[in-house]
Amino acid sequence: MIYLHVPFCHRKCTYCAFYSKPAHGVNAFGRYVDALLAEMEQRKGEQAHPIRTVYFGGGTPSILPLAELARIVDGLRRSFDLSQVEEFTLEANPEDLTPDYLSDLISLGFNRLSVGIQSLDDAQLRLIGRRHTARQALDALENAHRAGFHNISADFIYGLPHGNFQFSIFNFQLITHISAYALTVESGTALDLQVRQGRVVLPGEEEVVRQYHALRQQFEEAGFRQYEVSNFARPGYHSRHNSRYWDRTPYLGLGPAAHSFDGRRRRWNSPMEVGSGMWKVESEEVLTASDAVNELLMTALRTTRGFLLADIPEAYRAGLRQKLQPYVACGWLYIEESHHPSRHIPNSTLHTPHSSLHTPPSSLLTPHSSLLTPPSSLTYRPTPEGLLHADGIAAELFL
Ligand code: SF4
Repeated sequence: MIYLHVPFCHRKCTYCAFYSKPAHGVNAFGRYVDALLAEMEQRKGEQAHPIRTVYFGGGTPSILPLAELARIVDGLRRSFDLSQVEEFTLEANPEDLTPDYLSDLISLGFNRLSVGIQSLDDAQLRLIGRRHTARQALDALENAHRAGFHNISADFIYGLPHGNFQFSIFNFQLITHISAYALTVESGTALDLQVRQGRVVLPGEEEVVRQYHALRQQFEEAGFRQYEVSNFARPGYHSRHNSRYWDRTPYLGLGPAAHSFDGRRRRWNSPMEVGSGMWKVESEEVLTASDAVNELLMTALRTTRGFLLADIPEAYRAGLRQKLQPYVACGWLYIEESHHPSRHIPNSTLHTPHSSLHTPPSSLLTPHSSLLTPPSSLTYRPTPEGLLHADGIAAELFL
């Protein structure tokens, strides 16, 4: 799989700590694409696995003029075998999605959009520095659907002041996937300063959790199933790209500040150098066996699929089972006997049955029966309450 980072935004949103810069003139785009094409040629040998997903993230990829996007897609086709790509995603901001731009994206081969809607309240959108209005967001989804996009993800942010979403104006039929993220105040952002100066007052934890539950309920009533702490999908429409990150599938990250992973080693690209506009692979880290286990726990416990004990090296299994037991006892995790041989589950079966979100399935093992089952065939999954505590549980389990 390939991730491609587009580092430009029209302007900085107040909460944003991603690597992005304002685009100063169209020349910046041209220089960036030239450097990206050079990187593709240089690193094309690093992607040994079949490429099934390509994801343009940012930044704001939809800021790029069509001609520059076309140069990138041509470059990808020249440097890599894209014949097995199933999911070709572009992150987009609503204000960029005009009917012409959308139909050109279809012609270039994009088959999935991830649209940054964030809120359906114009006051909230202004507060966090977004450029679009709720009306523009709704129109963008209509236009995308009309242009031929039938796999559209919408991003929302909760934990904003006065955070009740007015979904009465929203047409869930236009989308297949939702990502809903809690607003976090990252150090050094404009929001951080506003909060410290008392100019913005954010809701407390209890209210944020209330908003999360309210959103989750509305998404489920609209036919979406939660498959990760922040992600919901209609059956068959989970993000294949993100699911592969959580499976620890190797990927190649292109562009400034992009990360790559080859199954053993993580590599980081530098940001764009001032003046030259170039970047390079800046640093790398070879993961130890315990690093790999920690990563698996950190990502898998955020998914409803959880993790198979067989995917933990045998040397760590007994100790880990002991540490997991209190979380099973308090109802944050449940144990299921697994029939799949590994965590690399075929795409068609990535979805957890809806019922498992709410009620541990009837095959839930009692502590007694789990002792009689070969440990490697056990899967540990978070309950809905456990999902809320996934990061804390993982931190306690770290080797
Ligand atoms: S559009 Fe996205 S990447 Fe750009 S500043 Fe806003 S949140 Fe950050």
